[in-house]
Amino acid sequence: MSNAKRPDGRSYDELRPIKAELGIAKNADGSCYLEWGKNIVVATVNGPRPVLPKHLADPSKAIINYKYRMATFSVSERKSPVPGKRDKEISLVSGHALEAAVMVEQFPNTMIDVNVLILSADAGTRVAALTAASLAAADAGLAMRGLISAVAAGRANKQIVLDLNKEDEDTEDAVDMACAFLMPQKELALLQMDGFADKKECSKILETALKGAEKVYEIQKKALVSKYPVEGGIQ
Ligand code: ADP
Repeated sequence: MSNAKRPDGRSYDELRPIKAELGIAKNADGSCYLEWGKNIVVATVNGPRPVLPKHLADPSKAIINYKYRMATFSVSERKSPVPGKRDKEISLVSGHALEAAVMVEQFPNTMIDVNVLILSADAGTRVAALTAASLAAADAGLAMRGLISAVAAGRANKQIVLDLNKEDEDTEDAVDMACAFLMPQKELALLQMDGFADKKECSKILETALKGAEKVYEIQKKALVSKYPVEGGIQ
């Protein structure tokens, strides 16, 4: 990919700066604070706990109760505190994506509560939320197959780009593909797309997203190791 710059100075395949810190909420079993460009996210994980009422429990696995919410002050116009269709849809698909990483089958008849609050939004919040939630799950000590490393890629100003910010997303020909990968296995756990692209472009965008997810995974591992030092690092 060329080194030409985007309006915010990034090259087309460059992520926004990402900073993650674990264990920031002392009353949660696991937590993560994440800054991703101008996005600010807090994720907490509690559980597993028994499901009430009991008949809602799944005897084969834990239920992941994922709640994605935007703070009223996270966007320029006040966001209603009442969860809308978008919040509910993002919560549902993100919970399913996180199930690819958490060994839910080890916790039958339980519920794992995952709460993600967006404090500041500048596009890509669902992928930032999943990236933080997966770190919070690891911080909670849940048995995991790997981490969910999520990132969006797409098209802005006729260029295939990684990690669209709001300005990129608001361009006329924008395509926004939110992707979440189980890492290090590189398995796709979530894919959502806005905009129109042909098959060839779609595969280029997906390839760009995977390269981005590999970088996100490296950042996640560093955040984990800085709280839980592991000799030789994490694979
Ligand atoms: P994502 O944040 O995952 O990219 P969307 O594509 O739905 O999700 O939203 C893109 C961006 O649009 C958000 O990150 C946020 O900056 C803005 N946005 C989303 N919902 C609202 C809202 N209700 N009011 C104002 N801005 C919003």
